[in-house]
Amino acid sequence: MGQVQGKVALVTGAAAGIGAAIATTLGREGARVVLTDLDDARGEATAGAIRAAGGDALYLHQDVTDEARWQDVMAEIESRHGRLDVLVANAGIAIIAPIIGMSLADWRRQTAVNIDGVFLSAKHGIPLMRKPGAGKPASGGSIVMISSVAGLRGSAGLAGYSATKGAVRLFAKSVALECAGARDGIRCNSIHPGIIETAIWEKMPAGANDARRNAPLDPRAIAEATVPTGQLGTPQDVANAVLFLASDASSYVNGSEIVVDAGLMAG
Ligand code: NAD
Repeated sequence: MGQVQGKVALVTGAAAGIGAAIATTLGREGARVVLTDLDDARGEATAGAIRAAGGDALYLHQDVTDEARWQDVMAEIESRHGRLDVLVANAGIAIIAPIIGMSLADWRRQTAVNIDGVFLSAKHGIPLMRKPGAGKPASGGSIVMISSVAGLRGSAGLAGYSATKGAVRLFAKSVALECAGARDGIRCNSIHPGIIETAIWEKMPAGANDARRNAPLDPRAIAEATVPTGQLGTPQDVANAVLFLASDASSYVNGSEIVVDAGLMAG
């Protein structure tokens, strides 16, 4: 028996990085996983690898900022599985730029993916999680929102990103309270990863006034300089925390936050 045996789980941004590790881990632990992303080739490959390992996985194209697509994805999950037990709002982008050098278009693009996408996940996910047979206390409906250590404190050069991730932290607590008040058995928690080795670091365009401009951001060097143990985290480190929140082992954990950062925020 896997730790999330038989549960139906949706993971956004699941083609690569942390999302792929989450989907793979939930699939390995018995969940029927629906992966969504913009990157269809990598999304199909990740879903295929889960199936090849004996799991149940379906990939769907989805831009998390598109509300109409959220309705389609939920309809597809309902017709295929009839329920949704675990929703992981993971898709996110990071734009590094000093405040006075950041365009309004970039601010809004980041806000659209990191906040609107998470809002839409809850808005369209909760009704299906509330359906009879899903999300009752015994089976443990669970929403997990991926924030960041940048959602716990300010960051020079990452003001827009920090603003979105701080919003996710309090949105998760608000979702937890609304669902608790409705007594529908759905919990909601946030996860705050530290410095994790994924392609997000390569994609971050350095701002014009950033001292690191013209040099690609090196997460290993940043981890060595800032993490107490010097350790760089892996997507699996985050997936392990998601597995706990998705499973019934965390049935009394609600409106909470798990920091996965090897002590970065402890000081
Ligand atoms: P990543 O860039 O490796 O993967 C992100 C995935 O999201 C990609 O597959 C991408 O195609 C997808 N995506 C982007 N925009 C999308 C959209 N509009 N709709 C659907 N999918 C979209 O990044 P990652 O490091 O795996 O990040 C995953 C989450 O973890 C993000 O929310 C990120 O902010 C958060 N996070 C990452 C770190 C880190 O150090 N890597 C630290 C803290 C928090």
